[in-house]
Amino acid sequence: MAADALLMHFSKQALGDPLVLERGDGPYVFDTHGRRYIDALSSLFCSQIGYGYGEEIAAAATRQMTTLAFNTNWGTSTPVALELADRLAELAPGGLRHSFFTSGGSEAVEAAWKVTREHFHAIGQPQRRKAIARDIAYHGVTLGALAFTGVQRFKTPFGPAAIDVTHVSNTNAYRAPDGHDDVAFCRRLLREVEDAILKAGPEEIALIIAEPVQNAGGCLVPPPGYWSGLREIADRYGALLMADEVICGCGRLGEWIATSRHDVTPDLVSLAKGLTSAYAPMGAVLAHERVISPIVEAGATIRHGITFGGHPVSAAIALKNIEIFERDQILENVRALTPRLASLMRELSFLPIVGDVRGDGFFWAAELVKDADGSPFDGAERDRLLRGFLPKRLREAGLIARADDRGDSVIQIAPPLISDAALLADIVDRLADVLTDAHAHMQMNATGKGAS
Ligand code: PLP
Repeated sequence: MAADALLMHFSKQALGDPLVLERGDGPYVFDTHGRRYIDALSSLFCSQIGYGYGEEIAAAATRQMTTLAFNTNWGTSTPVALELADRLAELAPGGLRHSFFTSGGSEAVEAAWKVTREHFHAIGQPQRRKAIARDIAYHGVTLGALAFTGVQRFKTPFGPAAIDVTHVSNTNAYRAPDGHDDVAFCRRLLREVEDAILKAGPEEIALIIAEPVQNAGGCLVPPPGYWSGLREIADRYGALLMADEVICGCGRLGEWIATSRHDVTPDLVSLAKGLTSAYAPMGAVLAHERVISPIVEAGATIRHGITFGGHPVSAAIALKNIEIFERDQILENVRALTPRLASLMRELSFLPIVGDVRGDGFFWAAELVKDADGSPFDGAERDRLLRGFLPKRLREAGLIARADDRGDSVIQIAPPLISDAALLADIVDRLADVLTDAHAHMQMNATGKGAS
């Protein structure tokens, strides 16, 4: 009855036997049968500090609820929303001083676009209405954010895009002819961005949006020089540069703002998921001084608002999350263990079903292939592997990971940032077992010997 009443997100209805999770503890979650799983996906890249801080966070939430449960950031504000904006300005690289709060990631991306447009109105360039984004990238589902999203099948039912966006190649080096040569690869990608801008009309481009490491397609790490190249192109053509850090920010790559790893300061940064470690829903757009000053100087209004954006209970939880990050050295843990996780993951490339391993921080993918030549699985094989075999076998292995084919077939992990070396080894061991069996399963099917 419940499965019928609940509309699942991005899932087929009538799942049969959905995984129903009712309890969490540290990096583990437990289903309604009491079975334990390592949440190696951090609840879709959200639960940075895991599930063990409930009491401490509840105390912060209770304090806020019994002081002032709610007020908006429309005209009024609250001490916690102000304090959170201030803390984020301290954590972000220079100049990203302003926060606009939302309830989640899509709203943050959407708000960033509205702020971009207000900026160009304020400086007398209202014709800048176009944007550059990347193939297969996922930037959310509200109609503005969906225009940036580069996964065609998520867009088709909803008609023409709300924003005129050109999608350019992402940074997937694995199948790129020049992917082995960082310099040539980076040069070609940046040239493509520039060509797209020239074709669309440089004076009409408002925004270049990209994730530091692109999630959809499987943890697509940029070649060295890519982000500084994007910065340079944005500056040359008078466009704003936005890092969508809904996944990569808040410690996933070992920094609050992931683009700091590339020595670049974007004009806009979106955060969500890990901002509260998902103890409450919240998102934010961080905007640079140079974006906001003209709006303020023009005496203009940002014509955008979200009732619950910056909800004081969420803000109190985000502040507590930041305090926990600092006290319990969460970023330091990610930085210290990134090389260990990288070498564990790279060991998987010896498995015949793994064609490529890539990632950074606590955010890794293995691309799954059919044979030693790296042939991709076809549609029917993907269904069998990614939606048939893997979810079931992962469940048996007590591991939550993501099998995905918005690009080619990949399996991804993003462990909670509190994971220690032993847990990371356990995750990768389980993954290796699952992938070994997946290879045998696909081989059996290919030779016609196997069952389903
Ligand atoms: N941007 C990126 C990079 C994301 O990964 C997501 C969600 O996964 C979003 C935006 C949208 O966030 P939300 O699902 O909170 O609306």
